[in-house]
Amino acid sequence: MSISRFNAVEKASNRKATEACTPKRNVSEYYGENVFNRKAMRKFLSKETYEALTAAIDRGVPIDREVANHVAAGMRMWALGKGVTHYTHWFQPLTDGTAEKHDAFVEHDGHGGMIEEFSGKLLVQQEPDASSFPNGGLRNTFEARGYSAWDPSSPAFIVDDTLCIPTVFIAYTGEALDYKTPLIRSIEALDKAATDVCHYFDPSTRRVTTYLGWEQEYFLVDEDLYSARPDLSLTERTLLGHESAKNQQLDDHYFGAIPSRVQEFMKDLEVECYKLGIPVKTRHNEVAPNQFELAPIYEECNLANDHNQLLMSVMKRVARHHNFRVLLHEKPFKGVNGSGKHCNWSLGTDTGVNLFSPGKDREDNLRFITFVVNTIMAVYRFNALLKATVASATNAHRLGANEAPPAIISTFLGTQISDILDKFETSAIEDAIEVDDKKGLHLGFGQIPELLLDNTDRNRTSPFAFTGNRFEFRAPGSSVNCGSAMLALNSAVAYQLRQFTNDVERLRSAGKSKEQAIFEVLKDYIKRSKPIRFDGNGYSDAWKEEALRRGLDCESSVPLQYDAYLQPEVVEMFESAGVLNRKELAARNEVKWEVYIKKVQIEARVLGDLSLNHIIPVAVRYQSVLLENITKLKEAFEGDEYREMAAEPRRLSRQISAHICAVTKQVDEMVEARKRANRIADLRERAIAYHDTVAPYLDTIRAHIDDLELMVDNQMWPLPKYRELLFIR
Ligand code: ADP
Ligand code: MG
Repeated sequence: MSISRFNAVEKASNRKATEACTPKRNVSEYYGENVFNRKAMRKFLSKETYEALTAAIDRGVPIDREVANHVAAGMRMWALGKGVTHYTHWFQPLTDGTAEKHDAFVEHDGHGGMIEEFSGKLLVQQEPDASSFPNGGLRNTFEARGYSAWDPSSPAFIVDDTLCIPTVFIAYTGEALDYKTPLIRSIEALDKAATDVCHYFDPSTRRVTTYLGWEQEYFLVDEDLYSARPDLSLTERTLLGHESAKNQQLDDHYFGAIPSRVQEFMKDLEVECYKLGIPVKTRHNEVAPNQFELAPIYEECNLANDHNQLLMSVMKRVARHHNFRVLLHEKPFKGVNGSGKHCNWSLGTDTGVNLFSPGKDREDNLRFITFVVNTIMAVYRFNALLKATVASATNAHRLGANEAPPAIISTFLGTQISDILDKFETSAIEDAIEVDDKKGLHLGFGQIPELLLDNTDRNRTSPFAFTGNRFEFRAPGSSVNCGSAMLALNSAVAYQLRQFTNDVERLRSAGKSKEQAIFEVLKDYIKRSKPIRFDGNGYSDAWKEEALRRGLDCESSVPLQYDAYLQPEVVEMFESAGVLNRKELAARNEVKWEVYIKKVQIEARVLGDLSLNHIIPVAVRYQSVLLENITKLKEAFEGDEYREMAAEPRRLSRQISAHICAVTKQVDEMVEARKRANRIADLRERAIAYHDTVAPYLDTIRAHIDDLELMVDNQMWPLPKYRELLFIR
């Protein structure tokens, strides 16, 4: 229910902090208590079942039905002991967010009663009644239904009274209908390709793991103020609202103390995260007022992504207890910073080596250079794709909007690594690579200083920055499923590493030594990938021109950015990495275009309604007040005196009229543009029409309304203003 502005403002400003219900226990005592983790497995599974399950988790060994039955029985026992009554397969459909369908643990016992039941069959596979999930036409025949299948590598967990089982979601014909399936495939592809490359340096490497550490930014807004803004409630962003006189100019929020209401929320949120085994670590204010960030300790990529998905729903739930709403939209407020979700990404071996860490030992450094160079080569070749993975109607307000990373993908390596690559490129092999009989291959120019972790050499404007022992992809938006970007990055790097092995082997079979082959291939890659390296200011206009000259993708229209998924070399890359085939890619793009259309369509409808039914009536009312004032002035005064006094109300009422006319006219035009776009059958073309002919009205209509906000009597203005929405006490 929407409430009136002043009511909402009053309630919000009188609100006291809701005390957090923090348990009086150390985190270590309850960490992971709602997760079917190894501790719970050991307690509730037989030794054989435990071993079979951990083999599946650690090494991907398949689980047979009998083991699944035992696991299900153990899980059920564990969950019942915690008061759980229902279970659900928890999956990540192509819309953002997660999906679940809850079933009770009960079955008929065959004697007229009920028993608690949960078999291996129900654990392993289910068919959600999910015809309404987007599938891009992959399930449009009744034979091609979708099913969810257990992902043993991510542990089951409890939310309220429900046991949630992480699952993949696929069509019966095998195509992925979610983010998790291709993410897992990409992690496997990268493991294989990277392990092979590691063998050049250390034959004992058996496995390479992908790590992800996300940083989740978000806004909080008081619940009543949120309810008084139909645009926030329906689209998660303010479609109108003039900038507050004070917003983030003073940086006082960033450096300030966390407000006590927010502190209490954060405490509860962290407790809930710990119970679910999400290792959250840092919390702080962000740049914009009411903006905050939460980051965990990094984890294996698939698990980290599940944890981020879970976090987003936990945040929303916990916020309600504290009379807040969480805004995960990338740009809820115009004129202040938007929210991203930086994805910190790295690779580690089972021998304990971070492949992006220059390392204390000299011999690690050539391996380090190899992985860095292949990564930037992959980012270079697939820069358009990487941008497409984070493109959305909502993130478009952030990317390229002069604050977050620009809508051009480039990499920043820092001066030290850049210098080393430059030196490598111009060196002779004797200087670049040394062979040590005992220690194998290493970089000829000795140690790379560990100073790399120094914060001063950081470029905050770079979308893909090397940050000491990992790469940080900063373009993903705050609402996105990290899987979208990670599965593409993993696949591209896997593909690139395969290419590297092939290139090295080709030279070796032509008679070159291993060292010579590696040297030549790296040198070539360093040269070729140069256009992607950019250490300057990514926000400048000069960079846009320069990037275009370098052949980097500069497309700014979201529907057209999605085309990158279907470029022949991208399809080839995904197919050869075994992650997604052409049919899946095409279907996923249909979903993307459709989601884009719907988002813009909803915003256009909401703005139309706000304009005609909330703003214009108020503007007309205020104009009547002015006209009445003019009439009264005429009654009371005469001649020049009257004219002088009436000049201002006249001018104002003329201006208001002009805005009213402009808004009405443009809302009409926007409706017409939507109707025209809706007649286009092809989804891609329709999305382009929405982008080109509907979305621009959202800005132009808003501009008139934001001007009106400055003219109309404050007492009459119906919606909470930015200054009221943005400063939690
Ligand atoms: P900043 O804001 O300076 O980038 P934060 O501490 O907020 O730093 O976030 C850093 C994130 O990077 C955390 O999630 C952290 O766990 C993650 N991280 C640190 N080292 C690695 C690594 N080797 N691989 C992946 N993620 C990492
Ligand atoms: Mg960061």
